[in-house]
Amino acid sequence: MRAIVKQQAGPGLVLTDVPEPVIGINDVLVRVRKTGICGTDLHIEAWDPWAARTIHAPLVVGHEFVGEIVDVGSNVTDFQAGDLVSGEGHVVCGRCRHCLAGRRHLCANTIGLGVGRDGAFAEFVALPMANVWHHWPGVDEEVAAIFDPFGNAVHTALAFPVLGEDVLVSGAGPIGLMATAVARHAGARHIVVSEPNAYRRALATRMGATVVVDPRERDLHDVQAELGMVEGFDVAMEMSGNAAALRTAISNMAHGGGIAILGIPTDEISIDVNEIVFKMLTLRGIYGREMYETWYKMTVMLQSGLDIKPAITHRFPYRDFEAAFAAARSGDSGKVIMDWTAR
Ligand code: NAD
Ligand code: ZN
Repeated sequence: MRAIVKQQAGPGLVLTDVPEPVIGINDVLVRVRKTGICGTDLHIEAWDPWAARTIHAPLVVGHEFVGEIVDVGSNVTDFQAGDLVSGEGHVVCGRCRHCLAGRRHLCANTIGLGVGRDGAFAEFVALPMANVWHHWPGVDEEVAAIFDPFGNAVHTALAFPVLGEDVLVSGAGPIGLMATAVARHAGARHIVVSEPNAYRRALATRMGATVVVDPRERDLHDVQAELGMVEGFDVAMEMSGNAAALRTAISNMAHGGGIAILGIPTDEISIDVNEIVFKMLTLRGIYGREMYETWYKMTVMLQSGLDIKPAITHRFPYRDFEAAFAAARSGDSGKVIMDWTAR
């Protein structure tokens, strides 16, 4: 089968032929239809220090996908050929304290699809049945392809109650954009999106932001005054991984506020703990999605009118993966989709 592969340690990816995955008795085999490019894939392509530490080549990369089941192992009775599915990209151990308690997103032994095992940028991908989400009828196929990062957005956006609250979103990458739409759908009052990139600020407005801000040009305290906010943001979603963005969020919070941190910094960030103490803030790290409460919420919010489609800005056939990666890397893009159906 055709697959996008990290063939050896070092920068680059190649489109090449690899053997089709062989499934075990608890696995499903999926014919991939569409995939999304994640920042993780860009890190692996570029071979940054994280990738050099984490990735063992050869590896089929990619974890955001939608496809159709073509085969199931002998233990699998819940799924059948023809089902339209996506994969939960975190393969958990099933045996630790949290897994046994049903809190699988807290598993400390998680293996990432397309990171620690062969991934989805291929004509076929194999997954344990416990990692399969069977889409409900009527789902848009491109939206289905990005349920993984959409789930990051939903997990973060619903970490603290947003109904009627004033929300700060730092970073309008694909996930910040989707989180903006989720916060709007979930009833936030003001949603201020801070993002240096003008293309992404324009998208954030389309996704439902009240105000978009270039953090290099405007102080959020001014924005608060302009909106007539009383004390500060009730909820912040850190989706940039940027140190200044986190510090700015902390200094613009109302007492008792909550900051959900999804963004992954490359270095340590120093913060003023006095502000956390005296404002009685809650900082909460968010990793992945809740299995499968987040997936359920994504599905029902789409059915009740949530529209994340404007966050998808570019589409390429998989053969043009280099152009697709360049579009994702440029920053002047939302989510970039690769189509695997044109063979
Ligand atoms: P992205 O890199 O496309 O978006 C980050 C955005 O932050 C960019 O648009 C960038 O311009 C913006 N930014 C940079 N400096 C800023 C500043 N000072 N203030 C405000 N915005 C600033 O990433 P994404 O795919 O949207 O993902 C968002 C973050 O979440 C990334 O850090 C990513 O690594 C991380 N992530 C975490 C998980 C998890 O499970 N915790 C999963 C996926 C992605
Ligand atoms: Zn576990």
